[in-house]
Amino acid sequence: MDCIFCKILKGEIPSKKVYEDEFVYAFYDINPMAPVHMIVIPKVHIESANAIDATNSMNIAKVFEAIPVIARELGLEDGYRVITNIGENGGQTVKHIHFHILGGTKLAGKLV
Ligand code: 5GP
Ligand code: ZN
Repeated sequence: MDCIFCKILKGEIPSKKVYEDEFVYAFYDINPMAPVHMIVIPKVHIESANAIDATNSMNIAKVFEAIPVIARELGLEDGYRVITNIGENGGQTVKHIHFHILGGTKLAGKLV
C-alpha cells in the first residue's frame, strides 16, 4: 500500500519522532503551520476519522491518551489545538488518519 505514514512507521521514510508506544507514533510535521506542529497517528492504517468503527476505535483512544503526554513533553501547558482533516472537502492530503497538534503561540485562524 502506498501510504506515506505507513512508510514512516516502517522507517522507510525518515521522521523526527517525538513520541512512540505500542499503538501510537508522533512526529514533527514536515511543513509546520505553528511554532509547534506535530502529527500523531495510530500504528494501524485507518483511512480517516470517517473509517473509525467498533473494531478499530481502541487505536484512536490510544492516540487521545498519548496527546496530553505529548503536549506536556512539548511544554504546551497554555493550550493547543488538535485537528483532523477528513476526505476531499475536509482537506485531507494523507489518507492515514492523523491528528495535528498545533501550539506554541496564540493560534490564529479560529474556524469554530
Ligand atoms: P493533511 O493535509 O492530510 O491533514 O495533513 C498531512 C500532513 O502531513 C501535512 O501537514 C504535511 O505537511 C505532512 N506531511 C506530508 N508528508 C510528510 C512527510 O513525509 N513527513 C512529515 N514529517 N510530514 C509530512
Ligand atoms: Zn497508512
